[in-house]
Amino acid sequence: MNDKDQPSYHMDLEEFRQNAYRTIDWVVDYLANVESYPVLSQAEPNEVRRQLPAEPPEKGEGYDAMLRDMTEIVLPGITHWQSPNFFAFFPANSSPPAILGEILSAGLGVQGMSWATSPACTELETHMMDWLVQMLGLPERYASHTDGGGVIQHSASDATLCALLAARERTTGGGSNKAGCDGQLVAYTSAQAHSSIEKACMIAGIGTENLRLVDVDENFAMRPEALDAQIRADKAAGLVPFFVCTCVGTTSSLALDPVAEVAKVTSAHELWLHVDAAMAGTAAICPEFRFINDGVESADSYTFNPHKWMFTNFDCNAFFVADRAALISALSILPEYLRNQATDSGAVFDYRDWHVPLGRRFRAIKLWFVIRYYGVQGLQHHIREHVALAQEFKQWVIHSDDFELGVDTPLNLVCFRHRDGDAVTEQIMHTVNRGGDMYLTHTRLDDHFTLRMSIGQTNTQRRHVTSAWEQLQAVASAVTGS
Ligand code: PLP
Repeated sequence: MNDKDQPSYHMDLEEFRQNAYRTIDWVVDYLANVESYPVLSQAEPNEVRRQLPAEPPEKGEGYDAMLRDMTEIVLPGITHWQSPNFFAFFPANSSPPAILGEILSAGLGVQGMSWATSPACTELETHMMDWLVQMLGLPERYASHTDGGGVIQHSASDATLCALLAARERTTGGGSNKAGCDGQLVAYTSAQAHSSIEKACMIAGIGTENLRLVDVDENFAMRPEALDAQIRADKAAGLVPFFVCTCVGTTSSLALDPVAEVAKVTSAHELWLHVDAAMAGTAAICPEFRFINDGVESADSYTFNPHKWMFTNFDCNAFFVADRAALISALSILPEYLRNQATDSGAVFDYRDWHVPLGRRFRAIKLWFVIRYYGVQGLQHHIREHVALAQEFKQWVIHSDDFELGVDTPLNLVCFRHRDGDAVTEQIMHTVNRGGDMYLTHTRLDDHFTLRMSIGQTNTQRRHVTSAWEQLQAVASAVTGS
């Protein structure tokens, strides 16, 4: 491929082929052995960097050395999110079909900012978003044949920011994009909402002082009457309420805000309603869990992360709007160098107008592969399996002499703590995590240090959950001396 008289430093395609085979072998071996590593990386601060040369190499190196350093330097600094013993945070799970889709995306290397820069990148994405509407039983108004539509974003944080920007522009008639915010706009979310809503208010110029954290009930779900009262108070003070973010599955305790009741408030006050179902949204693949989305038909936008619980590796967020014109008019900008006939025709989606960055990866392939490989039934099977395991774990906690529930959580999360209080509970967590056989994290509920058992890694089976429970009990006995 190279002009004969020119030197080349590129990896030639035959060498690439051989190295690609070795790389996929490395990944398969990693996944096959993932249970043998400590789930939480035991690396000390700076341990990884200490092993890296201070200067970049002047001359190119062989691939052997690179792959060796992956094993010797990088692996010890990895916390193994793909271990079936990973019960921390929320999952960021993956699967072989997703990884294969990712490889193909990198191989094609397209940048799908506009329809014209790779029609398949846009059209496959639109099609996957429409499939998700069907698979999750989402309202038809989010499908592309209506005024709405879906788009893949990098993260739920980006999706929420875009919803907030669209709401801001709808409320100010496009004025904030031109003249900036006037400091009068007020947004609302629950006191248990994810920090990404506050961050969106920082980025969008709303200001964190203009984000109201609405009171929650005993299950940590938003109280619609408190929302209504706050909106009325703000209006009476001359402020302009414009946006409500409600959560289907909060990060701390998977609390389900009553979306239908919240929607009555937002429609009475004509506010934009956004639904953040980042992790729990995947559950709606199973008809018996679709109750979590009651009321979503009234929302202006909805988001969930296939990159959390739907076997599709990070990054892959799905974001839906009922009125795509509101989103596009908030984010669209068309410099001369991006003009093309397809854009001018108005017959295509240019997804660069649906989010913050201009450039975009071909992320729909991995989603396509996951959905095709598992089929809806396969996905349902594994989601049900995770939920059943969490519910079984919950029963063990309920019947335990040592532990108690923090709150009764639905689906695949269990919040629990030791009966002897915060210090013991915290010590148990640090001890099991240091042991390396499992990894779980915590939150604070009603001001109690509370453990979160989050079950959603692709390969988590009953034996992993029973072993986690045995470890927790053994460590609790050792810590309390009982
Ligand atoms: N919303 C909720 C409820 C979450 O739990 C999370 C992350 O765990 C987010 C938003 C942010 O997700 P992302 O990392 O995709 O921005």
